[in-house]
Amino acid sequence: LKKGKRILLVDGVTVSFDGFKALNNLSFSINYGELRCIIGANGAGKSTMMDVVTGKTRPDAGHVTFGEAVNLLEMDEPAIAQIGIGRKFQKPTVFQNHSVFENLELAMQDDKRFFKTLFSKISGEQRDKIEETMGLIGLKELAKQDAGILSHGQKQWLEIGMLIMQNPKLLLVDEPVAGMTPQEVDKTGEILTNLAKEHAVVVVEHDMEFIRSIASKVTVLHEGSVLAEGDMESIQNNEKVRKVYLGE
Ligand code: ADP
Ligand code: MG
Repeated sequence: LKKGKRILLVDGVTVSFDGFKALNNLSFSINYGELRCIIGANGAGKSTMMDVVTGKTRPDAGHVTFGEAVNLLEMDEPAIAQIGIGRKFQKPTVFQNHSVFENLELAMQDDKRFFKTLFSKISGEQRDKIEETMGLIGLKELAKQDAGILSHGQKQWLEIGMLIMQNPKLLLVDEPVAGMTPQEVDKTGEILTNLAKEHAVVVVEHDMEFIRSIASKVTVLHEGSVLAEGDMESIQNNEKVRKVYLGE
């Protein structure tokens, strides 16, 4: 892990929908080992930014670079996932009728062998990886439980675990704590903080208490550009941010 080295560069990215600029010359970068929060009002461009990074939306202008020099704009969605960018959408989509362990087992496989994998033996190494991931997401005790009976929070954690099974280097997580209990919110902060030790993690979130609790660097998006960037305290004292969000 090249801690402190850049893993993602978004440089001057513009995305227009019928002349409306959802992203307007957006630039920021993420380093290995970083947990970054991206905040901004509805319509600020957060989801569009994730769509660009994952190859779902092509920008009209700008560059997106992964690692030292991989041009993501020349790659399609599967290729981008393959080189190590994982995305978690807001709603958890786990296999309800399979156990926690099996969900992680399934997530490890490529599409072709999908359900066949449940009937074949996994290697000791694969088992270790699943055990390690269950520890990280706090679901070790529930290994044999069907995912369908997990709480909303536990499902979110399982899905984060399923992403980890694909060995991503950069994880994009959309509103992970929406709908969670305060205890689940705390636990999620813990999981993401631990994850960021070995991966770069970008979290899009509305919950300010949560962002304060994980105390990471924050990027504020506004009308498709970066309005401010820094720690939570500097963001809260930032004049431009206060003007836009508090009408000062
Ligand atoms: P956020 O995730 O920050 O709420 P989005 O990235 O979803 O914001 O949207 C940014 C702006 O772009 C919004 O005004 C939204 O209506 C617009 N937008 C997003 N996707 C499309 C699309 N496919 N077609 C037209 N407008 C879109
Ligand atoms: Mg959004």
